[in-house]
Amino acid sequence: MIHTDYLVRATALDERVRAFALHATDVVGELQRRHDTYPGATAALGRTAMGALLLGAAGLKEPEHALSVEVRGGGPIGRVICTANGSGEVRGLVSNPHVHAPSIREGKLNVAGVVGTGGYLSVTKSLGLRDTYQGTVELQSGEIGDDLAFYLARSEQTPSAVGIGVFVMPDGRVEAAGGFLVQLLPGLEDEEIQEIEARIATLPHPTKLIREGVTPEGILDQIFGGEYTLGSSHPIRFHCPCSRERFEAAIVSLGQEEVNRIIEEEQEPRTEVVCHFCNEKYYFSPTEMQEILAAAR
Ligand SMILES: [Zn+2]
Repeated sequence: MIHTDYLVRATALDERVRAFALHATDVVGELQRRHDTYPGATAALGRTAMGALLLGAAGLKEPEHALSVEVRGGGPIGRVICTANGSGEVRGLVSNPHVHAPSIREGKLNVAGVVGTGGYLSVTKSLGLRDTYQGTVELQSGEIGDDLAFYLARSEQTPSAVGIGVFVMPDGRVEAAGGFLVQLLPGLEDEEIQEIEARIATLPHPTKLIREGVTPEGILDQIFGGEYTLGSSHPIRFHCPCSRERFEAAIVSLGQEEVNRIIEEEQEPRTEVVCHFCNEKYYFSPTEMQEILAAAR
């Protein structure tokens, strides 16, 4: 098993096909630990995080540009949201991490049963200061991979195939996570499209390949029969940009009255503030909160 997370780019058929493949076992493992997700929620969160990374690799040109994938399917998990940036960093959260997958289908976790099938998938791109783009599609399967492919075809007019999977051990640990995105660009012949589709249709599930030790390049090999041009690759990792300074700014925006009320009501030597994206905890004493407010005046 390879324990290095990275994403690789490639092109095939004279650049009329773009492809991306990744290993994200450590990234999804860290999401699982930070949010203490149960297996069904781990799979939903992990697939969404990898989807954000793949779409980010395909659609973000600058390292600081960011892309969020939000899934609201009406299922017990509530909302799933993941944000990736142009340098391969991702974070995410779910409303209810402690949900059980209703059943296991063909040895795979029933992700749709956790996510639900009656809602929406939205992608928001933040490209610089004012340039924000959002696209929303109806959820097709609730399995997330197919839903992302539907979004790309419908909202970005790029026929795409997305295969992403998370393998969770009985004790809840993430053993394998990874997948691919293949995008068909204009100019392809029907036979060429059919051949790629046929190869993808017979490809083993991504987690099976990763557990067998197949690299991201190896996944692309199987999709293109070895006939592709490898592009750049870069590491991917979990990262949350939250900091004590950001929460100080939040305290300032609460205002004097609200801060007084919190101090009064909690009667604690320190107030705990939790970042919902990474579960990092920050502590502020009443004196510190008053000093932060005084410094902001
Ligand atoms: Zn955070």
